[in-house]
Amino acid sequence: MQVLLATKNQGKITEVKEILRDTGIELVDIKSLNVDVSVAEDGKTFEENALKKAYAYHVATGLPCMADDSGLEVDCLNGEPGVYTARYAGEKATDKDNIAKLLYEMRSVPRENRSARFVCAIALVLTDGTVIITKASCEGIIAFEERGNGGFGYDPVFYVPEYKKTFAELDEEVKNHISHRAKALAKMKRYLEKLGVIV
Ligand code: IMP
Repeated sequence: MQVLLATKNQGKITEVKEILRDTGIELVDIKSLNVDVSVAEDGKTFEENALKKAYAYHVATGLPCMADDSGLEVDCLNGEPGVYTARYAGEKATDKDNIAKLLYEMRSVPRENRSARFVCAIALVLTDGTVIITKASCEGIIAFEERGNGGFGYDPVFYVPEYKKTFAELDEEVKNHISHRAKALAKMKRYLEKLGVIV
């Protein structure tokens, strides 16, 4: 089955392709199809934004479409930045800008209060109108400084105590096993198996 992955984020494309490698799903990305649909990510939840993206690209292409919406919830910031994670330091913010703002906001927060989680919602719209949405999270701690060169986004400051490493220091294979995106995709795979869409 061909599925259009509705994201321009190369980090996400690489991860999702790797995680879905053995499923028989052939992921096509937006660039290779040369479609560009502007979708306002103004939903109040990750699920709402993921569905908006998947549905908009499905309508534009007629293909089954999958989209994710993800972000960071930091407990001492009352769950912020949440759905605003990508724009935390402003509309045109880079990953570096966002991390700098996060570390600044948390500059006086001690280790025991730095708990956070990455959250990911994945929406899939199939050609017969079926919609599947899954959601999962991965718990961690916001580090005091950046560490590691792998991954993307906030990975250098997302520390996983169990592995004593940030996401940016973890082997790709490990991140693709424990991450919010990996878990949400695993749930999606189980739904698709139940529906008989994949075996
Ligand atoms: P989205 O593209 O609207 O889903 O934005 C998600 C935001 O969360 C972006 O700032 C991403 O960099 C960040 N993000 C999502 N997943 C991850 C991850 O696995 N590692 C690091 N940052 C992530």
